[in-house]
Amino acid sequence: MARWAIAIHGGAGVDPNLPEHRQEEAKRVLARCLQVGVDALRSGAAALDVVEAVVRELESDPFFNSGRGSALTRLGTVEMEASIMDGRGRRCGAVSGVSTVKNPVSLARLVMDKSPHSYLAFDGAEQFARDQGLEVVDNSYFITEDNVGMLKLAKEANSILFDYRIPLSGSETCGAQAVSSDNSHGNGMVMNGLPISIYAPETVGCAVVDSSGHTAAATSTGGLMNKMTGRIGDSPLIGSGTYACGACAVSCTGEGEAIIRSTLARDVAAVMEYRGAGLQEAVDYCVKKRLDEGFAGLIAVSSTGEVAYGFNCTGMFRGCATEDGFMEVGIWE
Ligand code: ASP
Repeated sequence: MARWAIAIHGGAGVDPNLPEHRQEEAKRVLARCLQVGVDALRSGAAALDVVEAVVRELESDPFFNSGRGSALTRLGTVEMEASIMDGRGRRCGAVSGVSTVKNPVSLARLVMDKSPHSYLAFDGAEQFARDQGLEVVDNSYFITEDNVGMLKLAKEANSILFDYRIPLSGSETCGAQAVSSDNSHGNGMVMNGLPISIYAPETVGCAVVDSSGHTAAATSTGGLMNKMTGRIGDSPLIGSGTYACGACAVSCTGEGEAIIRSTLARDVAAVMEYRGAGLQEAVDYCVKKRLDEGFAGLIAVSSTGEVAYGFNCTGMFRGCATEDGFMEVGIWE
């Protein structure tokens, strides 16, 4: 019998000045969602069902940037993305541009289980959700007051979180401002006098190995605050934001464009498979060597029941638990 293990995240790139009560709230939500996974694993649930159930919990809590509480596009709308992967047989499903589906991770699961495809987006994904009888709600359900305020700040600062280095161009340009950095990359950086982390994205993800040694991973997000409509990040991309195979399961978070360039989730598995590295070694290698620029982090489990995480920014909301009784939630290094 293998040993089960679970790791979750609620986003990388945490504001170093995040008020204490917000930190406590984050930890409470993480602990509650982690417990959902632990209870399911203790009662013998399959990894795939556990990652879906845990991500649904995280999507339903407005604290994090997925489902209710999703980051807003520059039009003030919500376009969510999610993916799920079953390490057993390497099956996968993903969705992008979803605007009414209450739990996008479950739509990704249906794409995997009930469609001939791996990835559906926008109108086609919405239609498929209706055909499958998934719960849908008005787009306004996902929009929180906090995020309306953050979008306003992002617009005033003329920034897309993490994209502050790339001047906007074309018809959507609103006059990119110079960026000032008062500190090293990813550590207390400010932009137009505002800490960039006020737009903290807080994507969610879960990686699990069950007591049969099967792995699964899932990731769900509203993407980046003030993103262009139609923008797709790493979270729905198998191999970038999410990956699961016979060696491990991985979910990433952070600057999607950097994670895509690094094929980060798949690389963790590849380092284990091709170099014979252990889980934490592979995670450290990929965070240090593959993420040559950009803010990101990831959580991972191995098929032998280890948990690992890594990030190259100020903090990452995360939690993990293993069969031998270890359980923790954390934010900082
Ligand atoms: N990776 C997500 C994206 O770029 C954001 C995040 O992880 O917080 O859409």
